[in-house]
Amino acid sequence: MSKVEPGRVREDEHLIVEGMDISGHWNRMFEQRVLWSHDTGPLEKLTAITGAESLAYCYQCGKCTSACPVDSVGSYSPRKIFRKVQTGTDLLTNPDLWLCTTCANCLRVCPKEVNMISIMPALREVAVTEANVPPELQKAFENTFQHGNPLGEPARKRADWVAEAGAPATILPRERRPVDVLFYVECYWSYHPRGRDAARAFARVMEKLGVDWGILGPEEKCSCDSQRLAGERGLFEMLAEQNIRTLAKYEFSRMVTSDPHAYNALRNEYPKLGAEYPIQHYTQFLAPLMGQLPWKRRLDYKVTFHDPCYLGRHNGEYDAPREMIRQIPGLQFTEMFRCKANGYCCGGGGGGMWLDSFTGNHVTERLSERRVREAVETGAEMLVVCCPYEVSRFEDAVKSTGNEGRLLVRDVIELVDEALR
Ligand code: SF4
Ligand code: SF4
Repeated sequence: MSKVEPGRVREDEHLIVEGMDISGHWNRMFEQRVLWSHDTGPLEKLTAITGAESLAYCYQCGKCTSACPVDSVGSYSPRKIFRKVQTGTDLLTNPDLWLCTTCANCLRVCPKEVNMISIMPALREVAVTEANVPPELQKAFENTFQHGNPLGEPARKRADWVAEAGAPATILPRERRPVDVLFYVECYWSYHPRGRDAARAFARVMEKLGVDWGILGPEEKCSCDSQRLAGERGLFEMLAEQNIRTLAKYEFSRMVTSDPHAYNALRNEYPKLGAEYPIQHYTQFLAPLMGQLPWKRRLDYKVTFHDPCYLGRHNGEYDAPREMIRQIPGLQFTEMFRCKANGYCCGGGGGGMWLDSFTGNHVTERLSERRVREAVETGAEMLVVCCPYEVSRFEDAVKSTGNEGRLLVRDVIELVDEALR
């Protein structure tokens, strides 16, 4: 550390400036202090990587630490990452490389715009090319490459959920025709059992609204936004190009998706590849139509709501899901203390969805577990979500925190469907 060396201090014994006597220590001047007592090489190596430059901007104010969800269950935040790198940690081979969920809460408060949403994918890309990836994440990458989805399910089963929806959904490759709405289902609503529950509820609600809609069925592939953020940009670009070619074959007026991550990709990333779509998250599409629904019953549940990072902070939509909750008859709604722009992350973003075991070794509890505790603290009996990652994440966390029977987890579309029956 630096210290003031007596020989480097200058002080005029007699000095009068503009009539004011500032003799002695009032005019003390210091030579520049030497603040760098460590090797700057590791930080310079990282910040030379395209996309990671802003890590160098950190001036250690500490604002990000209280905002970072990982820090509240461990020791993290950009400030701490910067300091570790500055003192010699090789981030490219350190577990910290994989703990950031790219939730963007640090970027929201950082005065220097240290951008972890750009830094982390850029550094992870290097780790991916060096084959230094946690095995469970590598498996998700391989599944996505081979099957077009991270769950490793066959493409031909992508539309199997439709059969038990009890409402029609046009599978466009089988029944080719122009539709008003192209519904981009995404992987977890296509394959995960709890996602399929939500997809079927969505189909029934669309039937009640009389919307003309269709899906790509087996031709749809993962939007790959989370794989991109986890460092697999090449895979993202490959699947995006396939999706863009597929979408070009069909006629539709607008697109709707179940998934905030797909919404982010289609809204912000696909245009960089030359493909722009009129895309909405399903809550944005449905919120203005709620007044047209023929409600059959009141749902007397006390509920709270979890903002998905990629719908809220990343894309600025906080109102649409709340408007849906407000219009479902009977619900009593309470906000959690961390909500909207300061919403807490479920831990699934940025590849976290496929890193639960790995992350579990570096935190005191999972982010989803912390969030479930916060939901229970509101007195709610139900945690309402609108991201396909979240139902299964939070249902697992309800069990692991011993809150079974105390807190239910439901997608908002499941509640709409329930109130219509
Ligand atoms: S808020 Fe920004 S500048 Fe302040 S410590 Fe965090 S990363 Fe550094
Ligand atoms: S993006 Fe989120 S998880 Fe990552 S460092 Fe920032 S606050 Fe923490």
